Amino acid sequence: MSKFHVAICGGGIGGLAAAVALSKYEDIEVSVFEAAREFSEVGAGIGVWPRVWKILAHLGLDDDLARISATKPTHDEVDTFIFRKADQPVGLDFYKLRSKGTLLRYHRPDVLQVLIDNLPARCKTHFNRRLMTYTQDTKQGTVELLFTDGTTETCNLLIGSDGIKSAVRKTMLMDKSKDAASHGRLKEAEEHLQLIEPTWTGIVAYRALIPTERLQAYKDAHPEMNIRIPQTKSTPIMYMGQHVNVVVYPISSGKLINVGAFHAKPHLEGTTFPGLWVETIPNDELLAAHEGWEPELQAILQCIDRPSRWAIHMAQPLKSWVDGNVCLLGDSAHATSPQQASGAGQAIEDAFLLATLLGHRLTRLENINEVLNIYSDLRIPVATECQMRSLANGHYFGLQLEGLDSTREFDRLHEIGDAVVDNWNWTWTTTLDADLDEAVSRLEASQRSRAHL
Ligand SMILES: Cc1cc2nc3c(=O)[nH]c(=O)nc-3n(C[C@H](O)[C@H](O)[C@H](O)COP(=O)(O)OP(=O)(O)OC[C@H]3O[C@@H](n4cnc5c(N)ncnc54)[C@H](O)[C@@H]3O)c2cc1C
Repeated sequence: MSKFHVAICGGGIGGLAAAVALSKYEDIEVSVFEAAREFSEVGAGIGVWPRVWKILAHLGLDDDLARISATKPTHDEVDTFIFRKADQPVGLDFYKLRSKGTLLRYHRPDVLQVLIDNLPARCKTHFNRRLMTYTQDTKQGTVELLFTDGTTETCNLLIGSDGIKSAVRKTMLMDKSKDAASHGRLKEAEEHLQLIEPTWTGIVAYRALIPTERLQAYKDAHPEMNIRIPQTKSTPIMYMGQHVNVVVYPISSGKLINVGAFHAKPHLEGTTFPGLWVETIPNDELLAAHEGWEPELQAILQCIDRPSRWAIHMAQPLKSWVDGNVCLLGDSAHATSPQQASGAGQAIEDAFLLATLLGHRLTRLENINEVLNIYSDLRIPVATECQMRSLANGHYFGLQLEGLDSTREFDRLHEIGDAVVDNWNWTWTTTLDADLDEAVSRLEASQRSRAHL
């Protein structure tokens, strides 16, 4: 007999991490509703920091993940990135970023497959089910889900892990707005509505995978260029220029090279992106954007067929990710720019902390809302700080540091590296453990005080 039924809407990394984590508790019934006809991930690389690796290990996914990556986890201090000024004819290495523990690098679909493989049979998965909206009966503790095909489902708790254009977030904020308006709080009602849509960061990311053998063939045809082929054992290079950075690293045991080129236009931050958020484009646009850059980077870009161009949007921070028995998780709650390589990591942290609370013996149908509020209160500061740090990293990667003219003061470029380390080292020096302990102690305290009433 289950204590309640959780519906997870959205089967990306966040939703499936939640499904795996919740399925560890036999008294929780779990269903996943995915809009697409199958679980799928974009063909691109993804980095996982030690902080997140520890959670994946708690979930028992470490062996499966270790099998699919040539980079192996370590607790040692390692070289993680070489920062290289590359927007000039001869590039200049100026910093070696070292971290305690590796930034593990994967092909995204492989990570998703590991999550799928670890879903137990009793976790029910449903495809072609795009949530449109939901209604709640808070007295009964039920949430009714309405899908775009007209079908409905009932659950006790809805987790909205439906990504940056989340339908759950939209319904939640519209409900809060209606409620505020009905109590005469018109300003608050308007504020809720303003928080529905993500905002454009002014950044576009060009993403592509290159078969390593293609770059090798290019190198063989141009021996005079001394192109370095990224190897699984070599340190990834971040090629940097004014407001631009290009991350290049091998994945899939070195068979593919992941390229992510990030172009920021800070003056456009907060404006509306004029076009599709994700689009496949001719490679000419990417090549033109790197005219004058060093030959090695140009050679790598030459090997791309058709990159995809992503307008990078951020979810606006909310005061709460909860309404009644509904909560947000992952990008629906806190989509971020990717410059901390931590958006999916944050979704996994959400999933693990939420599952720890929901699986606790003190959590019952009657106190779900209280438990969700503990989750939301603990996770919002972390996720929001990650969003801010990500924007800051974006500035540094684009060679922007207050008081430094990176077009001339080459001997001071290492200061940018130091700023990045200060801003990024939480991903390898901290863990989620303290927040997990705090979550459980808040739950226990709330139940103790309830018992005294
Ligand atoms: C260029 C780039 C590089 C990045 N690099 C990294 C990195 O190195 N490390 C890292 O940790 N993060 C990285 N991220 C961030 C990471 O990709 C996201 O934060 C993460 O994928 C979010 O996972 P999610 O499950 O919350 O959302 P999504 O991955 O968006 O999944 C949402 C799922 O919900 C489904 N869905 C949507 N609407 C509905 C609906 N109405 N009903 C039902 N289902 C629905 C979708 O089909 C999808 O399957 C990067 C992001 C970008 C753009």
